[in-house]
Amino acid sequence: MDIAVIGSNMVDLIAYINDMPKMGETLEAPDFKMGCGGKGANQAVAAATLGAKVMMLTKVGDDIFAENTIRNLKQYGINTDYVESVEGVSSGVAPIFVDQSSQNRILIIKGANQYLKPADIDRAAEQLKQCKLFILQLEIPLETVYYAIDFANSHGIQVILNPAPASKTLDIRYACHCDFFMPNETELEILTGLPVQSMEEIQAAASVLLSKGLKNLIVTLGDKGAVWLTEDKKVFIEPYPVKAVDTSGAGDAFIGCFAYHYIQSHDIAESMKMASLFAAYSVTGQGTQSSYPNKDQFEQLKQ
Ligand code: ADP
Repeated sequence: MDIAVIGSNMVDLIAYINDMPKMGETLEAPDFKMGCGGKGANQAVAAATLGAKVMMLTKVGDDIFAENTIRNLKQYGINTDYVESVEGVSSGVAPIFVDQSSQNRILIIKGANQYLKPADIDRAAEQLKQCKLFILQLEIPLETVYYAIDFANSHGIQVILNPAPASKTLDIRYACHCDFFMPNETELEILTGLPVQSMEEIQAAASVLLSKGLKNLIVTLGDKGAVWLTEDKKVFIEPYPVKAVDTSGAGDAFIGCFAYHYIQSHDIAESMKMASLFAAYSVTGQGTQSSYPNKDQFEQLKQ
């Protein structure tokens, strides 16, 4: 195994609407799509589709979505030996409403994701120990995230922590024990309480975190690219100019692709360039995982 993603899976239930129903009103909507998502699963799929050997530690519910999620992960070659179903609990689901101008309203029901506990890491310990890198996000209990970081540290495994969705209760000392801390602009703003409108403001907010002992801070900036900051270095990666159709899952695409390249080259700037290309492609198509390029498409993009 190269990479273990210890995190969430969700089923996106996307209703394409003309108008939002008012209280008590029933409206017909023109279209509906179901898709596999969840930050953890998206990141696992992005890395696996490029060829990384990925295992996923996640929990599914006791419902029809569970089988669908596992089948989807397997389809990308992701190891699901440690994906367990939680009795009497729903899978993680995200009802999403997308209107004609592509504005969205999203509800997240974490469901079984809340049941991924430190004991699950112990259960999978032998297989986890073989991995070079862990990828973590915050859609599972924080105690599990902290436990995974400690586990990685004691076994010489590198860690990417994606602090998403942003949580003010995240103990930043654990982030300092990760090799990479990868928020987007909004998450950086929430974590620091500082504005992030300009590059100067982003740098000032980043300095606050770096002064606490973060090693590598990589901030994704949407259509403005991405920046890698350390105590004494700042490397800006230009975005690839594309016509954006649907930006959902771009950050996850970036992280999964970054992880795949980083474990091979250990070249951070180069891995960010690849991630930026992969994520840019993903915003040109609808959906999250379904918008990620496969290995052949990505090879062609690189030329
Ligand atoms: P998130 O999905 O977490 O909000 P971002 O919006 O920061 O993440 O996007 C992650 C990465 O995807 C960016 O750093 C950039 O490389 C790429 N990206 C996102 N939106 C665009 C865009 N409109 N054009 C080109 N690249 C984009």
